[in-house]
Amino acid sequence: MTCYQCGQAASARCVRCSRPFCPSHGRIHCDRCRAPESAVPSTFLYRGAVLLAVLTLGVGVWHLVAWPQFPSPPIAAKELLAATPAQATHAGEAPALQETPTPTPEPAAPTPAPSEPRRYTVQPGNTLSAIAAQFGVSVDEIVAANNLPSAAALQIGQELVIPGG
Ligand SMILES: [Zn+2]
Ligand SMILES: [Zn+2]
Repeated sequence: MTCYQCGQAASARCVRCSRPFCPSHGRIHCDRCRAPESAVPSTFLYRGAVLLAVLTLGVGVWHLVAWPQFPSPPIAAKELLAATPAQATHAGEAPALQETPTPTPEPAAPTPAPSEPRRYTVQPGNTLSAIAAQFGVSVDEIVAANNLPSAAALQIGQELVIPGG
């Protein structure tokens, strides 16, 4: 067993790299392992660690800043992308699509209204003549349509059938 450095008889082996060394070229470790540059990580390891730290920091910051807003911006971006190039075609189509469903329920609501008798719930302070004037009918017509015993027999919350159309 000879010293890795000088070729003399080695006294021990380096506990780190197992190189045999003589007393003048090492103690527990050989001189090469005791050198400061051996403690410095290699360029590859150093750059890899720095890159990993930067990536980790970037992902952390991205989660803090961008992640809570993640669901909304992609939709807004899609709408912007869809609206900007196809604005001419969509401008004509979009209102047509919006108008089509709207008139469908609208005729359905007014159409049965004239055929069915109108109804009015008596409010506090209402008089039969005021209700009749409001609907453009006579008091007698309301009395007849509701089988009221008299024009004075009006109760709050009572539902009146308003005759006529
Ligand atoms: Zn030596
Ligand atoms: Zn060594």
